[in-house]
Amino acid sequence: MNKEMTRKTIKNDIVVKGIGLHSGKQVHLRLIPAGENTGIVFIPNNKKKNFSIQSSLENVVDTSNAVTLGDGVNTIQTVEHLMAAIATTGITDLLVEIDSIEIPIMDGSALPFVQAIEQTGTIDLNGIVEPITIQNPLWVVDGDKYLVALPANEFKATYSIHFDHPLLRGQSITLSLSKENILKEVISARTFGFLKDVEALQARGLALGGSPDNAVVLTDTGYVNQDLRFEDECVRHKVLDLIGDLAIMGRPVKGHIIASKAGHTMDISLGKLIMSTVTGNEISKFKSRRFPFFQKRELSRNIN
Ligand SMILES: [Zn+2]
Repeated sequence: MNKEMTRKTIKNDIVVKGIGLHSGKQVHLRLIPAGENTGIVFIPNNKKKNFSIQSSLENVVDTSNAVTLGDGVNTIQTVEHLMAAIATTGITDLLVEIDSIEIPIMDGSALPFVQAIEQTGTIDLNGIVEPITIQNPLWVVDGDKYLVALPANEFKATYSIHFDHPLLRGQSITLSLSKENILKEVISARTFGFLKDVEALQARGLALGGSPDNAVVLTDTGYVNQDLRFEDECVRHKVLDLIGDLAIMGRPVKGHIIASKAGHTMDISLGKLIMSTVTGNEISKFKSRRFPFFQKRELSRNIN
């Protein structure tokens, strides 16, 4: 039986300010306590607009550089680091009011969001959220890239990245993803990018807010940044993205996720695959023991 967790929200409103990675403009975010079973809901604080977008895998409309949620008309971009902070602090119900279409990039990690939430504190709500236990291997594959979920008695990840760069030819890490470990080993790892890509994006009017203040930036041979937070900060950030992307499912995962060269597109596909195995509140253990099955999904899109 899975260990149930109490639903939680924050004690008081939290205001967070930062810049949007793509727009480069100031963004104001207000996190507002919500009642049980609200889920995580994004709403504009602009009276001219009236919409709300629920955080759910069905509402993911783009995964090309970051995760974008949408309702068919409106979108909220770059939700993954905030979602990682929300999931790690155990929050299940929250309103996120925003005056932009982009969650601020802050320092490139999820640390500022966690610090803001922990400063205010959380309160228990009625109701529980039950983790999803991986009962059988599940995987998504795209050429030499893969993401596998295996049964395990805890949430953990093994992640490998390989880039055509002298410092990133191979970085690999295995981590237990308990709350304590995520806070210590993952939450402060910053997003990363290659200087030549940033320059190309900026020429197209994108990544205008991107700088070594909010990302680990790589030149052809080294880092622009003077200091890294971890020697292998880039692969740790990929683990952070994975946590944030899977958090969109709205339920914690108990299982070992193994990733090689994966990214947002594959994370969301794996999340959908995991959700497809859930019947009712829990996978039928009896059924999966008697009739083990394997699932494989090929992805047609190239992912980063
Ligand atoms: Zn990220």
